Amino acid sequence: MNVHEYQAKEIFSKYGVPVPRGYVAHSVLEAVENAKKLGGNIWVVKAQIHAGGRGLGGGVKLARSLEEVEELASQILGMTLVTHQTGPEGKLVQKVYIEEGVDIADELYLGVVLDRAKEMPVIMASTEGGMEIEKVAAETPEKIVKVAIDPAIGFQAFHGRELAFGLGLAKEEIGKFMKFASALYKVYMENDAELIEINPLVKTGSGDFIALDGKMGFDDSALYRHPEIEAMRDISAEDPSEREAGEFGLSYIKLDGEVGCMVNGAGLAMGTMDTINYVGGTPANFLDVGGKASAQTVAKGFEIILKDQNVKSIFVNIFGGIVRCDRIANGILEATKLVDVTVPVIVRLDGTNALEAAEILKSANIANVISATDLEDGAKKAVAAARGEL
Ligand code: ADP
Ligand code: MG
Repeated sequence: MNVHEYQAKEIFSKYGVPVPRGYVAHSVLEAVENAKKLGGNIWVVKAQIHAGGRGLGGGVKLARSLEEVEELASQILGMTLVTHQTGPEGKLVQKVYIEEGVDIADELYLGVVLDRAKEMPVIMASTEGGMEIEKVAAETPEKIVKVAIDPAIGFQAFHGRELAFGLGLAKEEIGKFMKFASALYKVYMENDAELIEINPLVKTGSGDFIALDGKMGFDDSALYRHPEIEAMRDISAEDPSEREAGEFGLSYIKLDGEVGCMVNGAGLAMGTMDTINYVGGTPANFLDVGGKASAQTVAKGFEIILKDQNVKSIFVNIFGGIVRCDRIANGILEATKLVDVTVPVIVRLDGTNALEAAEILKSANIANVISATDLEDGAKKAVAAARGEL
């Protein structure tokens, strides 16, 4: 689960991670009220969507008067903001954050992520703040300092010093930075976060560190331990197809290829996507129908996959372990009655009762449904079908 910048900052500030003062607004009127409440004479109007790169897309703007706050808030609220993280369709802005303007002397980067290979959280810092960190990592990886923290030891002064020295901070800045990084690590651990990103972490004119931006993602499986964070969930900002899938117990992630995938089990789903790539195609999605696939879930799966206009074929790749293949075959038949399946469907069913399943599909003889013998055959047929070559 992801939260908005204003919510991440709310969490930061509970842990003593310095953030600028600000208030979230749902209307232009509220935006102006918030600016008045903040006082001062420079405000920043910031679109709240679950994506970064808002500044470049025109979703973060500086206002020097209350009139300007009003003008910018009415411009940004309701706009469809397109950034490199939203995809070309963009995201509707339903809230803006009104924040005090900060005197920026230097922009740094600070993040915490889980390194699965090291099995530890890693703090990443860079002098190249304000830029896309993926770009920094690709072009100038030496400008990123990484320090892994063994959770059994926790954040120690030597970790902080390693980061601070890596950033080339001045002597008098080191103590402040270490306090900041240590508090951020605590935010990460105590809230079961998967990712925290502060880009930019700003050094102010008066030599303080402050989180100018804030991004947080949480481990969904641990949300039950944090009802206050679960309450921050903004369903309206999430992908509607992914949300709908979740309600039916399907794990769905939209991607941008042409071959829709319906698979049981996350591992097989990954393998299927890899194989589609291997034979020269691109998967349109990740979809794990789970171990309890029924006609209804299969139908729902088709419906969700077909909402994506890019989908030119669907590859159903099910391994019958606990779930029996004949049941899935019947599910597919049922599903084609419930949903208008407009693209070729390539079906590979293997495992328990695979032969019975093949019989069922064969005797039903549905125009759009094509059988495959194994994973590679299925992937090849699905890719060929997507190209109209089958
Ligand atoms: P995004 O990463 O989505 O573009 P940011 O919150 O990082 O959004 O804002 C983009 C840029 O806008 C920052 O790099 C910074 O230069 C400027 N900015 C953001 N918030 C403030 C603020 N409160 N005061 C001054 N400048 C700001
Ligand atoms: Mg940013």
